[in-house]
Amino acid sequence: MKREQVFEFFRRLAEANPSPTTELESSNPYQLLVAVVLSAQATDASVNIACRPLFARIKTPQQMVDFGEDDLRDAIKTIGLFNTKAKNVIALSQALMDHHGGEVPRTREQLQALPGVGRKTANVVLNTAFGEETFAVDTHVFRVCNRTGLAPGKTVDEVEAKLERIVPQPFRRDAHHWLILHGRYTCKARLPECWRCPVIDLCRYRPKTLPPEERIKSSGARTAIRASSATRTGPSRTASRRPAGRSRSRPSRLP
Ligand code: SF4
Repeated sequence: MKREQVFEFFRRLAEANPSPTTELESSNPYQLLVAVVLSAQATDASVNIACRPLFARIKTPQQMVDFGEDDLRDAIKTIGLFNTKAKNVIALSQALMDHHGGEVPRTREQLQALPGVGRKTANVVLNTAFGEETFAVDTHVFRVCNRTGLAPGKTVDEVEAKLERIVPQPFRRDAHHWLILHGRYTCKARLPECWRCPVIDLCRYRPKTLPPEERIKSSGARTAIRASSATRTGPSRTASRRPAGRSRSRPSRLP
């Protein structure tokens, strides 16, 4: 994508959502760090459900250590990988007490040295809690960057490095939120909703997904064509095995 197109891409996402932020609920950097650790391979919604009652009583690393691993495991048992995550959260809380005076550190190196904290988690905390211009690449960001041609790359590190290079001001701070939300709600994994996408003309993905009503019409037309061709040519193996109306074709898309 050319530089002007990248600018326009983010300008439109920004216009549609001027104040994007994480959907994880927290009231301080420590709770945000815990929520991000818990969100690995889980939805933000499931983490929020488990964390609301937890965060009402646990606001500091010391309180978490006092709460203990058994009670924490029980509090987060609805979240995937809760055994490992409970262990990590207690260990990282203890490390914050031992080495950082109970505060969340502000450097990537110190964050990534904490148990259960990888590059993506560090990027989210640095960005959302401390306002740094970091680019956390999750599954949504990775897909959107590759599909659209915005910042293609074979690995999350490659995509992150490209975003780092190409995202212009004034969009750098919120870029990763826009990309996550765009991937989660519009440019979805199985069927991107191109017909209502604000960057449709800038995106290189082909073919674009049609609006639902046109997909229904076009799949009806294809079924009718197949039925009439089967009538003309007589029964075939395909026609006899797959009744009309049970098409295996993929959803229709714009050319
Ligand atoms: S046009 Fe479609 S594929 Fe491209 S960004 Fe929009 S939703 Fe995603």
